[in-house]
Amino acid sequence: MSFHMSPEEFLRQSQAVMQWIADYHDHRVTELPVLSQVESGEIRASLPPDPPQHGEDFATMLADFDQKILPGITHWQSPNFYAYFPTGVSGPSLLGEFLSAGLAIQGMLWTTSPACTDLEAHMMDWVVKLLDLPEHYLSPLSRPGSSGGGVIQDSASSASLCAILAARERATAGRFNEEGGDGRLVAYTSNQAHSSIEKDVKVAGIGRKNLRLIPVDEHAENFAMDPIALRDQMVADRAAGKVPFFVSATVGTTSSGAVDPLPEIGAICEEFGASGVKPWLHVDGAMMGTAAVCPEFRGIHRGLKLADSYLFNPHKWMLVNFDCTCMFVKDRAALVSALSVTPEYLRNSASDAGEVIDYRDWQVPLGRRFRALKLWFVLRHYGVEGLQFYIRRHVEAAAQFAGWVEADPHFELVTPRSLNLVCFRLKPRDIASDASEAGKLEDEPAVNARNEALMKELNASGQIYLSHTKLAGKYTLRLCVGQAQTEIEHVRKAWELIQTVGRGL
Ligand code: PLP
Repeated sequence: MSFHMSPEEFLRQSQAVMQWIADYHDHRVTELPVLSQVESGEIRASLPPDPPQHGEDFATMLADFDQKILPGITHWQSPNFYAYFPTGVSGPSLLGEFLSAGLAIQGMLWTTSPACTDLEAHMMDWVVKLLDLPEHYLSPLSRPGSSGGGVIQDSASSASLCAILAARERATAGRFNEEGGDGRLVAYTSNQAHSSIEKDVKVAGIGRKNLRLIPVDEHAENFAMDPIALRDQMVADRAAGKVPFFVSATVGTTSSGAVDPLPEIGAICEEFGASGVKPWLHVDGAMMGTAAVCPEFRGIHRGLKLADSYLFNPHKWMLVNFDCTCMFVKDRAALVSALSVTPEYLRNSASDAGEVIDYRDWQVPLGRRFRALKLWFVLRHYGVEGLQFYIRRHVEAAAQFAGWVEADPHFELVTPRSLNLVCFRLKPRDIASDASEAGKLEDEPAVNARNEALMKELNASGQIYLSHTKLAGKYTLRLCVGQAQTEIEHVRKAWELIQTVGRGL
């Protein structure tokens, strides 16, 4: 007797699942409201309170998935999804994911599946070349004698945490790991950096009070870190007996796509390194790093050669489905030393000989999935030119959208467009009641309220999905073009809807 699904049944049901996914991407995703319209509690109320005593038929499960779960899905793959940052997907990526799930391996050690580690290391070297990243991120196999290398982490948050742990290890020569901290380490990032840096600083035991959120250059309207303010703060901290040990710069902030000035920030880290502990420079290129696939956008990485670590998410804008974060380090020794713990049951001759990479030492969890497969398939299916085609199309569509905003007297750009991200809002209205009040404008809280109402109405329509931020106190709508299926016609329709709703407010 067996309760397992038979191979024949598995094949039949996988065809049904594949058909479901193909239909979803082909047309259903565009027919459904982009933002899920369910109320809290609705999904759970549709599910039985207890697990079934007797196994059920898969066709019923798939039908339940369609009827009960799908209404609670916000369609990140809709071509009308412009919120947050995109989350990638593509046929080859999904197929790689399915094979990875089918193998169901644990790639924690090289020996537990050599191909998992070797393909990953090879893909990381491909990515260095694909994005024209500094050579010191290559593995020794591609660059003999290299002390660097790359690894696939689950998320940007985890990769930044690992960077902080490596920085902590280097700054204290391992003492933090052995004895705990003395509260002197200080980390820096801009007040526009992603919240994951703050979370990681807390997780790493650095202490929230030892994270400095450096002001940005609001007057230049680009919201990038002010390097003078960074240096001043680091000088003050050192004078107070603190140890500036970690600086995180962003290439493409979540709010507005700001690119921090890496050459200046890198030079400050070098300057500090010349007279004491060298701060570890980490660069978070979450979504926008992908733009460097196109040579004309590589300016975003100017100064990256000064960074100790770098990450970007192919799972955002590079057609690879979540999760896939590429992280590179200039010197892997600090990272491995920070994260390596070897109980007897993990010992093996390949690791003991020191000839192989054991990626468990490059991340927080022990176990790891075979993520390199989907990246390999995407790179091979699209080739460099295929990826460039999509990135350029998205940037062009965002540029057109920004042009329409600028040409409309009711709207304005809040910051200059950053590649595929446009930050805009309804302009303050002229509220002069007679000639004596000429030029009197609506106050900022009123403008903010109208923009908030605009976004809520757009999202409630189910036709598009946008998200917002606040920049210098201004409630700002963000439109990020990055979904695999988004064409200029979708963006044009989105703009027409935004204009219609906005003018009525
Ligand atoms: N860094 C930046 C700049 C981001 O925009 C994001 C998410 O959007 C993250 C980090 C966190 O990404 P993840 O979900 O991979 O942890």
